Amino acid sequence: VPVEFEAALPILRKIEAAGYEAYFVGGSVRDTILQRPIHDVDIATSAYPSEVKGLFARTVDTGIEHGTVMILDHGNGYEVTTFRTESGYQDYRRPDKVTFVRSLKEDLKRRDFTINALALSENGEITDLFGGLDDMKHKIIRAVGDPEQRFNEDALRMMRAVRFASQLDFQIEAQTLSGIYDHSQLLKKIAVERIHTEFVKMMLGTDAPRGLSLMVTSQMYRFVPEFGSHAAAIKQIAEQSFHLQNEVQVWALFTSTFGYDRSQITQFLKRWKTANKIINDVILTTELIDQIKSHSVGNLELYTAGRANVLNAIQVLGTAKSDLIDQYDHLPITNKKQLKVTGGDLIKDGILKPSPKLGQTLTALEKAVVLGQIHNHKAALESAAIALNKD
Ligand code: ATP
Ligand code: MG
Repeated sequence: VPVEFEAALPILRKIEAAGYEAYFVGGSVRDTILQRPIHDVDIATSAYPSEVKGLFARTVDTGIEHGTVMILDHGNGYEVTTFRTESGYQDYRRPDKVTFVRSLKEDLKRRDFTINALALSENGEITDLFGGLDDMKHKIIRAVGDPEQRFNEDALRMMRAVRFASQLDFQIEAQTLSGIYDHSQLLKKIAVERIHTEFVKMMLGTDAPRGLSLMVTSQMYRFVPEFGSHAAAIKQIAEQSFHLQNEVQVWALFTSTFGYDRSQITQFLKRWKTANKIINDVILTTELIDQIKSHSVGNLELYTAGRANVLNAIQVLGTAKSDLIDQYDHLPITNKKQLKVTGGDLIKDGILKPSPKLGQTLTALEKAVVLGQIHNHKAALESAAIALNKD
């Protein structure tokens, strides 16, 4: 039993001592059985949210409307969710109504796949109503219940199926797969943020090329932002073998293959609702990839990209380009702050006054140091600053 479960056992015991049922559920149970590392421990209970709150001193209403209460305990937080059923799925999105119930079975029935519909009790017993253990043994992703209906209820489940196929290296069971083939267009009803999360997890999985191939053969790719206009490029990527380590690499693989420039990358990633920090790194990584491909990468290009993006570009290219990291690690400076002269120095020493010229001079010095044209010594930099500004 993983330490994460050990630490949460007193919570389960306390809920049970009050006469309710409580179980570990979801991804943490699945990943424990598969001997994979677990992150969030989810607890499901027959107690209603108000009853859960009555039992613990410190709770936070993290998602009280759908039955989730966070219990704070010794610096840890545990999400405890009341057994529920879901109804009123409209527009193939999440349900607009959840009903709290007292039955574990009802709660497990609403879950997406058999491997995600297991419950683990405090004494180590597993409740497996849909053959999830067997499917795990045979590495199969199978919808709970009728796949057609389940994908109609919530089309995101199709992305999740592909995500788990990539992450776990599992096969999607035939009926479940044909449900995906038949309903791929429903993906356009789903909020981009939700697709984004599953898509990035899929692309970071061990078998991401197969995940992407599944999106191609099922046509799902046509219903996510901008992929529809790049069918050939998407298919080409799906046929490559690649292994990516972070979200920047995921997007850079696409933007460099699409041949996107800075403004196209920004527009594309904004449509995918990507964080600004990521967008900036994708631009730097993509530009560096273009330069590496055209054999025009020098110290200035490496310096501009930064070490993390040099690593990102190498990983996306998937080629033995580790000489680039060597080259990067021999740069005279890797950051503007390492320049041995500051604007303050140039003013104090009477070389320049506060003015736009000051900033321009510092930028020119920075570039010259990176290119090895000036030594990064204060005296050398100040003479260069004087030479740059004599007119
Ligand atoms: P991860 O390890 O990446 O968190 P997970 O399976 O735990 O994977 P979550 O999104 O954390 O995924 O969801 C927790 C559980 O809630 C799932 O295991 C599944 O039982 C259920 N679940 C999540 N999303 C859906 C959905 N769209 N439809 C039905 N059940 C879902
Ligand atoms: Mg989870």
